[in-house]
Amino acid sequence: KISENLPVIRQLDEGAINRIAAGEVVERPASAVKELVENAIDAGATRVEIAIAAGGKTLIRVTDNGCGILPDQLPLALSRHATSKIDGSDLLDIHTFGFRGEALPSLGAVGRLTITSRVKGADAASISVAGGKLSPVKPAALGQGTIVELRDLFYATPARLKFMRSDRAESQAITDVVKRLAMAEPFVGITLRDVTGGGEGRVTFRADAESGDLFDALHGRLARILGAEFAENALRIDAEREGLKLIGYAALPTYSRGSSTAQYLFVNGRPVKDKLLVGALRAAYFDFLSRDRHPAAALFIDCDPQLVDVNVHPAKSEVRFRDPGLARGLIVSALKHALAEAGHRASSTVAN
Ligand code: ADP
Ligand code: MG
Repeated sequence: KISENLPVIRQLDEGAINRIAAGEVVERPASAVKELVENAIDAGATRVEIAIAAGGKTLIRVTDNGCGILPDQLPLALSRHATSKIDGSDLLDIHTFGFRGEALPSLGAVGRLTITSRVKGADAASISVAGGKLSPVKPAALGQGTIVELRDLFYATPARLKFMRSDRAESQAITDVVKRLAMAEPFVGITLRDVTGGGEGRVTFRADAESGDLFDALHGRLARILGAEFAENALRIDAEREGLKLIGYAALPTYSRGSSTAQYLFVNGRPVKDKLLVGALRAAYFDFLSRDRHPAAALFIDCDPQLVDVNVHPAKSEVRFRDPGLARGLIVSALKHALAEAGHRASSTVAN
């Protein structure tokens, strides 16, 4: 006789699947901001405006001037594993931030999401989703670009809501995420505004689009974000080895810090937290700094997407190099070289 309380295997419905996935993609308001700004940049935007209220818990709105979404594509943008960025044939060849097609459906499962968008030469339209339920596509009014508005994040998952920290802490996390994205995109103007309580709100971070060549733009952007003092003390880094290109700025040892918080690494434009960087910086500055001092640097590695795997984690904050030793070696030698040159310059000025 078959037992009556045998477990039954059921297919989860789309809403439940999205809420589970959302847990990995959107941990907190800052991760939602990251996904939305990355989408704007993937859409070719040169201006991104972010508005948040209550630390992003009640409102996150990202407005961009990118390519937009056609009205009949709006429902697809909100469905799972639907993306315009890859065709699935080569997961090692990814040139965009996004590719999983998970962010918008996940956000729509855990908050109230409205997308309003307009492609140049087409009509503007909007679509909403709340608790996983899609509204029909409606006509709207908008210039070219996209507005994604996310209200009441995690209202549908009270357990998650309880894990949110104070408005202040969540705002701070959002500012950090926005600054990191802004570092990697000096040609994109980015504004972050706190509109808690309504009205125009207050600008909490602003970086106008930089111009000039890449190094000028990057230097200007880093001055804006890491401060004029960093920029004045920063050595330009420009090196290449076996298909890995390294650019960026690393500060003179005299500008060292008491902690390693001013160390940034980006791989193909993605901010990554990797012990590799901390180790490489330590090795490069070994002769110049005592153990309790930490160098400051913002470094950007660009390479053929085939040489890294960004597919490691849904939040894509981890990147795996096919050859980590190569990346480390490149950073160490480029920085040592720049530091030695700066040392020569300094000693010859003293001698003269
Ligand atoms: P992914 O970014 O991985 O493709 P998303 O769920 O973040 O997945 O977005 C789904 C699709 O919606 C994208 O592939 C893109 O075509 C479209 N999209 C999302 N945000 C924007 C935007 N700001 N501008 C234009 N298109 C967008
Ligand atoms: Mg995306």
